[in-house]
Amino acid sequence: MVSVLDTIGGTPLLPLTRVAGGLDVRVKCEHMNPGGSIKDRIAQAIVDDAERRGVLRSGMTLVEATAGNTGVGLALVAAVRGYRLCCVMPEKMSLDKRAALAALGAEVIITANAPPSSPQSFRAVAARLAAERGWFCTDQFANPANVRVHEEVTAAEILTQTGGRVGAFVVGAGTGGTITGVGRRLKAALPNVRILLADPEGSALADWVETGRLGVDGSYAVEGIGASEPPANLDRSVIDGAVRVSDADSFAMARRLIQEEGLLVGGSAGTNVAAALRVAAQGGLDGPVVTVLPDGWDRYRTTPWMRAWATEPSGS
Ligand code: PMP
Repeated sequence: MVSVLDTIGGTPLLPLTRVAGGLDVRVKCEHMNPGGSIKDRIAQAIVDDAERRGVLRSGMTLVEATAGNTGVGLALVAAVRGYRLCCVMPEKMSLDKRAALAALGAEVIITANAPPSSPQSFRAVAARLAAERGWFCTDQFANPANVRVHEEVTAAEILTQTGGRVGAFVVGAGTGGTITGVGRRLKAALPNVRILLADPEGSALADWVETGRLGVDGSYAVEGIGASEPPANLDRSVIDGAVRVSDADSFAMARRLIQEEGLLVGGSAGTNVAAALRVAAQGGLDGPVVTVLPDGWDRYRTTPWMRAWATEPSGS
């Protein structure tokens, strides 16, 4: 039966014009998915996979540790397929995301901003609820269906849309699903492609990619990417290097994408594009730089970085 789930994926790959200053950087518009983010793809893939394996049956409850976007994607899938949904979120995530999940009918549980190894972390709480209540934990950080859908579908779209020419793929990692899945497939198809991590300053992942040792765990305001420890779905062996981006540069670039390109995106899109432009400026690549716009601006209207624009002159 045709449903909203059939509109997931197949997103446009657009060239940047005004912000790219002549560099060839192309953006995969994942904010145009029906739930407003790249996470619609993995929500559908994880549920499809669990149904196929027989571990998920109609009427059951899904539980996920989510920064918000996976929760929205899962809410769409839950609505169409008849599941209940519980989302466990760290308190740093925006009020807009909490409100969206509650409006979608999900139960929302807020946890402290604790590292993944802590029993108070959003991931530990989600796992505990699944074990205690017999819920299905979708487990985006370790579920191989996350990586697989990016390897088989997202990467195939990029290869078709670029005519098989990609110089570099530059993207941040939250679960690592996007960079691992797309990176693996592009490397298999294109021997010269460079796969680079865009990482917020304050995340420990950039150092880990470069040296194998975790960097210092700091704080940053960009949501959905970066981590204090690498998740299971992040495969270091597909990544060639890292680009560090400050909050200020991420939010300034998100603003430029919105105001100069009409791309209505969130903060991590700013991180990805700022990093992609730096990679393109270095040159020496065998094709365009491709990056991803993971989610839309509607999730961030109450955040300090976007509210500040209402009181600052444009372009400041
Ligand atoms: N940006 C945002 C806003 C996200 O919510 C996420 C996922 N947490 C990502 C980027 C990173 O994607 P991935 O989980 O595939 O690494």
